[in-house]
Amino acid sequence: MSQNRIAIIGGGPAGLAAAERLSLSGHAVTVYDAMPTFARKFLLAGKSGLNITHSEDYARFVTRFGAASACLRPALDAFTPADIRDWAAGLGTETFVGSSGRVFPKVMKASPLLRAWLKRLGERGVALRTRHRCTGLVEGGYVFETPEGRSIVHCDAALLALGGASWPRLGSDAAWLPWLAERGVEIDAFRPANCGFIVGWSASLSARFAGEPVKSVTATSEAGTFPGEFVITDSGIEGSLVYAHAASLRDRLLHHGSAALTLDLAPGRAIERLARDLTRQDTKSSFSNRLRKGAGLDGVKAALLRELAPDRDRTDPERLAGMIKALPVPVLDTRPIAEAISSAGGIRWTSIDDGFMLKALPGTFVAGEMLDWEAPTGGYLLTACLATGRAASRGIEAWLSR
Ligand SMILES: Cc1cc2nc3c(=O)[nH]c(=O)nc-3n(C[C@H](O)[C@H](O)[C@H](O)COP(=O)(O)OP(=O)(O)OC[C@H]3O[C@@H](n4cnc5c(N)ncnc54)[C@H](O)[C@@H]3O)c2cc1C
Repeated sequence: MSQNRIAIIGGGPAGLAAAERLSLSGHAVTVYDAMPTFARKFLLAGKSGLNITHSEDYARFVTRFGAASACLRPALDAFTPADIRDWAAGLGTETFVGSSGRVFPKVMKASPLLRAWLKRLGERGVALRTRHRCTGLVEGGYVFETPEGRSIVHCDAALLALGGASWPRLGSDAAWLPWLAERGVEIDAFRPANCGFIVGWSASLSARFAGEPVKSVTATSEAGTFPGEFVITDSGIEGSLVYAHAASLRDRLLHHGSAALTLDLAPGRAIERLARDLTRQDTKSSFSNRLRKGAGLDGVKAALLRELAPDRDRTDPERLAGMIKALPVPVLDTRPIAEAISSAGGIRWTSIDDGFMLKALPGTFVAGEMLDWEAPTGGYLLTACLATGRAASRGIEAWLSR
């Protein structure tokens, strides 16, 4: 087989996964990244334990990608959560299933896995080039800014794995968007996913409770009702329970101009029982005392009721019980995309073929968060990035041997 030159531009999980498969193909593979080191977002994900995939039933797993689930399915089928655990073990990183079904490396960090991964790529002859920022395409090549100046890379096939638009300081700044759009690639505007929201707290609530976790609650939006916890921030709310509702709240804000997350502050207690217990409280006692003695609520939960429940609902035990069980937290806006865990939007599925090749740019393939899909936290993001990287590498091989 003749040796082809393959440029992989973007050395995050999607690009490295593609390079790894292609390193066995006999082709000359080079990975380029703009940053001084590879996979900075992957390393940051490791700071919170690196939730690399999820152990839930696979039939359920593949539905987690919303409207893009069907488009992602062939890539996921070819690199399943079980394959990811085997792959990590092959690089010396054993994984375990946490209580929520999420899968983590036993060492709860990303750096040993990334080190072993890069080492293996190097040993298999993949050239690794950092500080190479791709700035666009000219006829016959990709333009790079490097410490040595501008250079043009000519190759037989290229994979763009440049990431989405969250946390741009880690490398994925979506600067590629205009140069691909100019070439006729259809791209949906990036939006924050798995993000926090602005609520507009009173100065007293944010001064006293910013940073405080709100534990053992359930939250409801059009996405459903989920138990969990979240954190009060200076400007609003963030954390896993908020991220689970983020896509639904964001889209509702976009289409209706308003949205609210509805909290049950006492999920274990029936509304009738709460109303009865609150009715027994002395009407002359303070709101805090009635809440503490009648409903067992104090601290940040009491503060949320004080902040958000209308006056008349605070004095009427039945209405107060109703607020405890269904307290609407109106959200005003998403936090900026630069703070989000991931992004929605990106290259439309109609712009690529089954092998992840851009229809407008034959020979150029795409993978990872650049593509138009989103998923909740839980290891789904990394799974889809690794799986699409590998799927695109199969597309490249098929195209080169056409
Ligand atoms: C705080 C945080 C925690 C997370 N935790 C988890 C988690 O636990 N589990 C999970 O599944 N997901 C998690 N994620 C999401 C996950 O890290 C991303 O979905 C994933 O890294 C995306 O992979 P990617 O390869 O598509 O893009 P990226 O990882 O963003 O990699 C893209 C690469 O392309 C490079 N690049 C960009 N533009 C250029 C250019 N013009 N020229 C050259 N190189 C360029 C960048 O420097 C970067 O290295 C987390 C994200 C964040 C921000």
